[in-house]
Amino acid sequence: MPANLAETPIQFIKGVGPAKAKLLANLGVVNVEDLLYLFPHRYEDRSQFTPIAMLRVGETQTICGEIIACRRNFYSKNRTVEATIGDKSGRIAGVWFNQPYLDKVFKVGQEVVLYGRVDVFGKRLQMVVPDFELISAEDRSLNMGRIVPVYPLTRGITQRYLRRLMDACLNLYAGHLQDTIPHLIRQKRNLNPISQSIHEIHFPSDFIHQQKALDRVAFEEFFLFQICVILRRFNIVHKIGITHQVNSSLIEQYKTSFPFSLTTAQSKAIADIAGDMSQNRPMLRMLQGDVGSGKTVVAFFGCVVSQKNGNQAVIMAPTEILAQQHFFNFQRLLGNGTFKDLKAALLISSTPLKEKKTIYQNLKEGKIDLIIGTHALLEETVAFKNLSFVVIDEQHKFGVNQRALLTAKGSNPDILIMTATPIPRTLCLTLYGDLDVSVINELPPGRGGIKTYHFPLVKAPAVYQKVRELALKGTQGYIIYPLVDESENLDLKAAKDMFIHFQKFEFQGLRVGLVHGQMSRQESDEVMQKFKKHELDILVATTILEVGIDIPNANIMVIEHAERFGLSQLHQLRGRIGRGAQNAMCVLLGDPVTEESRLRLEAVVKTTDGFKIAEQDLKIRGPGHYFGRHQHGLNELKMSNPITQIEILEKAREDAIILTQRDPQLNMGENNLIKNTIKKRYPHYLDLILAG
Ligand code: ADP
Ligand code: MG
Repeated sequence: MPANLAETPIQFIKGVGPAKAKLLANLGVVNVEDLLYLFPHRYEDRSQFTPIAMLRVGETQTICGEIIACRRNFYSKNRTVEATIGDKSGRIAGVWFNQPYLDKVFKVGQEVVLYGRVDVFGKRLQMVVPDFELISAEDRSLNMGRIVPVYPLTRGITQRYLRRLMDACLNLYAGHLQDTIPHLIRQKRNLNPISQSIHEIHFPSDFIHQQKALDRVAFEEFFLFQICVILRRFNIVHKIGITHQVNSSLIEQYKTSFPFSLTTAQSKAIADIAGDMSQNRPMLRMLQGDVGSGKTVVAFFGCVVSQKNGNQAVIMAPTEILAQQHFFNFQRLLGNGTFKDLKAALLISSTPLKEKKTIYQNLKEGKIDLIIGTHALLEETVAFKNLSFVVIDEQHKFGVNQRALLTAKGSNPDILIMTATPIPRTLCLTLYGDLDVSVINELPPGRGGIKTYHFPLVKAPAVYQKVRELALKGTQGYIIYPLVDESENLDLKAAKDMFIHFQKFEFQGLRVGLVHGQMSRQESDEVMQKFKKHELDILVATTILEVGIDIPNANIMVIEHAERFGLSQLHQLRGRIGRGAQNAMCVLLGDPVTEESRLRLEAVVKTTDGFKIAEQDLKIRGPGHYFGRHQHGLNELKMSNPITQIEILEKAREDAIILTQRDPQLNMGENNLIKNTIKKRYPHYLDLILAG
């Protein structure tokens, strides 16, 4: 009978005890399974060290030597400790700041390993604040002469201790690890048993085995996660939803009801939605399209279908101003034409209470066909007679629960979620393999183009001058800062301070506004409204401007300290301009110091294609940072990376599809183990799918 590693507390392993167990818990290690899955964050090849004399300046390397001297200088501003380390070939200094206790740690004659960037200071070599590890005679076999794992640490737990503990637990328990991947798939994909892989991850025999082992656990993770995604879809497909009647004449009538003709991509998305809505299973579709690509018109189509079928529709947006914009667009585009019998209302938190009450009543009685609003829609008092179509705009601004709350107001309604953050295909597959996707990959014609420039910060005065000139000719502009307040960081210009400055100097006589995240939503909405009505010429802002505001007359944007912004963020910001017929100009002001930030600015200057930018962003930053915390899914992937390991992902997905087709309940043979593991790892995914 194999031991259940998840139920074997780490505290009872020899050499741990209550005190160490507490410290280990800081690393997320409570039981033996946790420990075995605590992977090194890097490795050091200590099978041979670079002799000090052969070190390459500017590169990060590992050396081993003996401490020859240790000096401290506690009178200097940042209290330095400096150790001289020597091997047969030469000497190097290690320097540490503000860790005075190190003076006691380094003993002359002690063997030590340093890992860090090699610099030259004066005439000698040094490493500034390198990682160090004292080597003792007793457990050399784990710490020297091999590829050595380097783990994330917490105070009171050393590398040496962790390696010893890991080694002990591997010897005792690795054999008890259970293979979640069925053995037929293991054979087909040439995957080693899990116990061997875990061993190779901690104490690799060489880097080839180590890579193979890492690929294997990535495969396992992708495999399990894909099973969840596929089963979730399976669950949706098998629900009974609302069957809408959609005939082709309605589609034609709709498409020709606008003062403009729809783009091919918009037509295609409308056809997708028509197809979904006419089926008896609930639609779950994501509509992706860059800012300004015209998603709203597509969403309105579903609302029309819903109303024609005697049902109700809802559109939820993350801010009041966006909800208002949708409502306004609805009135403008549909409100007095062919579809004017569709009754729409706006519900936001600033809607007067009396009006709210009337809306609640009318919704319940089915007298309103389409309600457009914000979070205010989530309140319990909002109830429908027969909700059949749900639109969630800027879906990543809402939590999973909020989306669920809204849909629960109907009985398996059709759902359209919209996003202006383009999602590259691989990532989409990983996260949303259970959604259908429509993409709007072209902008409506007749838009002026956006030209993007990058200048160093010293060019700011000339750029302000340009903004002023344009403002005097009637073109509105944005000036964006990374910070609200100068006190946050003295080296950066900030929105509040520059707002005051501009009114006195560069933009004297012009109407300047300010919005930032520390204002209440109401305050910032008011300013935005004024800007929209052209009661302001120039708007100084922070990134709260990001979300889909549509002001066609705003055609210049200056982003200061542009190197401080993320790539997608820059792109989203820039999407606020170029929404009218005039040419627009985006100026990035900044002095990038890192290669990464230089690449970011270059990418924004080079292309306005949101998908290209997203791919680039993912490459630079990795998926974890791409979406922020709300996007569950990415956070679940701990051992795999859908960008760099796409081939593994595709294989795992293929196998997951075959397996779930054969055994959707995961009841057959080894599949029970899959079910149990999934239930443990992704509980909130599966409670929807598998009962019992
Ligand atoms: P987003 O995809 O950012 O939500 P919107 O739906 O707000 O874009 O559309 C932006 C603007 O473009 C709106 O004013 C809308 O009326 C207009 N628009 C949408 N589709 C077209 C089209 N095919 N041709 C011209 N203008 C369009
Ligand atoms: Mg929009």
